[in-house]
Amino acid sequence: MENRYAGGCASCSVWVSAGGGFLGKGVTGGWEVRCATCRFLDDRAAADDFDPEALELPPVPPAGSAATVALRVLTLTRPCWACGEATVCLAGLYPQRPARGYVGLFTTDSPRTLALARRLLQNHGHAALAATVRPRYSGTMRKRQLSNGCSHCDALQGNFPVQEEALGRVAASGVDGLDTLVIADCPVLEWQAVVHGSSGGVMAI
Ligand SMILES: [Zn+2]
Ligand SMILES: [Zn+2]
Repeated sequence: MENRYAGGCASCSVWVSAGGGFLGKGVTGGWEVRCATCRFLDDRAAADDFDPEALELPPVPPAGSAATVALRVLTLTRPCWACGEATVCLAGLYPQRPARGYVGLFTTDSPRTLALARRLLQNHGHAALAATVRPRYSGTMRKRQLSNGCSHCDALQGNFPVQEEALGRVAASGVDGLDTLVIADCPVLEWQAVVHGSSGGVMAI
């Protein structure tokens, strides 16, 4: 069924114009809007051969879908384990206006989410902080991967302690337990790739 009224998609919070998406019952029984891209990807995710690493996103957002979505780039400041100075770590992404039915703070535990957060910072006047996020060797993961780094001494700030602290802050105070560094306009397809392509790295909120 088409959505008669405009609204935000329950899966991704992208704005959908009237008639541009679908209306369905959510898990709690209320009516929710879903954008055409998320409906397609949710159907695909139910298939046996679905591979989140090889998402079949459309080349452009479908008619009725907004082109960009405003995201909060969430950070936390904590002492660096190596030098003791306070340093800013990228923690996650969350829609500025979460839609009805939307649940999901996507954390930088997922390299895909961290890469998008870094790109948004580069595009929104935070190049210096973005530059602290780069590939480093992780002894825990036994490979080089994109990571938060100390702005003073460049030491890798491990995902485990950063996410543990983020989880504690969100459990205590919700999304406002983290700092919103910037509200960034993000191309919807890049955001939907994070929403549907993250294996792990999401807090229900
Ligand atoms: Zn959607
Ligand atoms: Zn340091």
